[in-house]
Amino acid sequence: MHAPYNSWLVALSIAVAVFVSYTAFRLAARVAEASRPMRRYWLIGGASAMGIGIWSMHFIGMLSMSMPMVLRYDIPMTVASLLIAIVTSWMAIRIAAADRLGSRALALGGLVMGGGIAAMHYLGMAAIDITPAIRYRPALVAASIVVGIGASSGALWLTFHLRGGRTAHPLARLGGALLMGLAISGTHYIGMAAATFAPHSRCYGGIALDNAWLAVTIALVSVSLLVFALMTDMHSSELAARAQAHAARLQQINAQLRYQATHDGLTGLLNRDAFLARLAAALHEARAGAGRFAVLALDLDRFKLINDSLGHGAGDRLLCEVARRLRAMSPDADAIARMGGDEFLVLTRSVENAEEAGTLATKIIQGLSKPLRLESLEVLVASSIGISRYPNDGGTPETLLAHADEALYGAKRRGGRTFQCFVPEMNGFAQERLQLESDLNHALTRGQFELHYQPRVEVVSARVSSVEALLRWRHPARGYISPRTFIPIAEETGLIVPIGEWVLNEACRQARRWHSSGLALRVAVNLSALQFRQPGLLRTIAAALAAERLPPQLLELEITESVVMTDAETSVGILEQLSHMGVVVSVDDFGTGYSNMSYLQRFPIDRLKIDASFIGVMNDDPQSTLIVQAIISLAHNLRMKVIAEGVETTAQLRRLASLGCDQYQGFLFGQPMPADALEPQLRAHASLGDPSDTAATRARLSRPAWDPSLLASNDD
Ligand code: C2E
Ligand code: MG
Ligand code: MG
Repeated sequence: MHAPYNSWLVALSIAVAVFVSYTAFRLAARVAEASRPMRRYWLIGGASAMGIGIWSMHFIGMLSMSMPMVLRYDIPMTVASLLIAIVTSWMAIRIAAADRLGSRALALGGLVMGGGIAAMHYLGMAAIDITPAIRYRPALVAASIVVGIGASSGALWLTFHLRGGRTAHPLARLGGALLMGLAISGTHYIGMAAATFAPHSRCYGGIALDNAWLAVTIALVSVSLLVFALMTDMHSSELAARAQAHAARLQQINAQLRYQATHDGLTGLLNRDAFLARLAAALHEARAGAGRFAVLALDLDRFKLINDSLGHGAGDRLLCEVARRLRAMSPDADAIARMGGDEFLVLTRSVENAEEAGTLATKIIQGLSKPLRLESLEVLVASSIGISRYPNDGGTPETLLAHADEALYGAKRRGGRTFQCFVPEMNGFAQERLQLESDLNHALTRGQFELHYQPRVEVVSARVSSVEALLRWRHPARGYISPRTFIPIAEETGLIVPIGEWVLNEACRQARRWHSSGLALRVAVNLSALQFRQPGLLRTIAAALAAERLPPQLLELEITESVVMTDAETSVGILEQLSHMGVVVSVDDFGTGYSNMSYLQRFPIDRLKIDASFIGVMNDDPQSTLIVQAIISLAHNLRMKVIAEGVETTAQLRRLASLGCDQYQGFLFGQPMPADALEPQLRAHASLGDPSDTAATRARLSRPAWDPSLLASNDD
């Protein structure tokens, strides 16, 4: 007797078989990945779920058959068939999770799987308590077993050989699952076809298989699938979480290692290697784009003293505080590093030139010098900075660092608490000169010039009737630069013209200020050769006077002997016009250039300034004294006044007084100073009358009215 099948249930049973296989293979892949201690649990859980699934399929298959009687099952045998399903599944998963699958293992696996499925099926059938007993057609039984073994082998082969790496390719897994499902359901349905139930068979004892069983079976399938799904899910999320944790940790360790490799452990600033790398990168970039940058080497003054007296803990805290302040004060820095000890380096692209580098250095030195509490002591941190710049001071990281260091030692040599730009001392003269030239170019617009004033004192009355304006260039990196250095450069480049004009205007402004405050001081301004030959000179002077409404007698122009003598014809013309304007003209550095003094007769000149070189040697060199004496008498014969320059001692002054010199200028009375610093001295020694009033001066000269204490002291 052969019963008809419910095709829906048949389809369901096959679907269950395929689905169970699919999930089992997926699980196998997870087992393969699972950590060793977890493997066993995966295997047990997976095998149980798959076994229950296969077993459920078997019963759904049984239910799909419409039998005229109710089938009853023997419980121990039914349980045994379930156990066989589970063991078979266990083997299937183990084989599928193996690293390798040789042909022998494949054959064995197929045999065990197919055999297991068949064993489960026929044991399940044997559990049916039916009389008369079911009869089987051997050929079909053999066919069911062959299909089971063949399909299982195919399923195993597919999952194995199409897998990439450890886990199967999804398509291979699907094919494997289809084949496995075919093995399970094929064995079942061929086995069922092999079975013949005698008509009017009856079941006794055991448990009846009815709709309630169907519900239980379906529930079991659902649960087993759910368990599968849960296990796979849990596993993947566990894996994902583990992978994430791994990655995060790795990243953290990586970052930590990188940080340690590039930073100074104490201060958290960059270390030497990292700084050199940044420097190399900056260099590379600057070369490509004609960029510029500066390297500042900083060193703390007296750090060793603090370290030794307050201990290393205090020293470390000091270094950390210095690092903190450095960061705060150079927010635009491209790199700040500690080179070990108390040496720091700053790399910055945000400075365009030496001036800006100097400004930054000053800011850092000042910022670091704020007091700091260490061990209940107020500590003052003084620091020195050396600066080297690209491209001016070097083209490799090594030279730039070496030059910054060299400059740093220069700053230290100058007493510390200051900065110094690298200056190439040997064979770098041309380079330095070029640098100065380019700096000088900007000095005027950047307001780096100022005028200092040196009083000229009446020898007889010790009164100050005039001052000489002397130009000062406050270089941002080098401090004050002597006019003897930069005036020749300014003359060569023509910059002296605008600079000289500035001096003229500034001097007139100052003379006006003094005049308005009751000090009738004449201001003497030095004119360079180029200035003197400018076609617009007279206009410029007139404009300067007019702008301040300054009486022309309060302006004096100093021109050197050589300027007057070259192209004497033109000079005479210019001098005549100046004299006509009313300004006072004097010949500077007189005596150094020309021996033929008779030329002087032709020039409308008011004063001669005897060069300091004669005054300096006057007391021990009778020849010098003779020259001075000759100049004075010549000048007086020509109705000129004489000023002695560079008077440093009272002995010199006494000698000059005895020779009838009118005025003197020199350190003895005072150094050139800014106007406001000079003011008290000026007021104390202010001239009584109009300084241009020659008659008044002459009258005073006849009286021996100089400060007797000056002459009384004998200091040479
Ligand atoms: P100078 O016109 O002969 O100025 C006198 C120089 O002697 C000044 O030097 C002054 O500071 C210095 N001196 C004054 N008293 C003493 C002393 O007792 N002993 C010694 N050893 N030196 C003394 P400084 O200021 O360095 O100026 C140097 C030169 O630069 C000036 O020589 C002048 O030729 C030029 N110079 C200064 N300012 C200007 C300016 O505004 N325009 C032009 N064209 N040249 C200027
Ligand atoms: Mg002068
Ligand atoms: Mg002079």
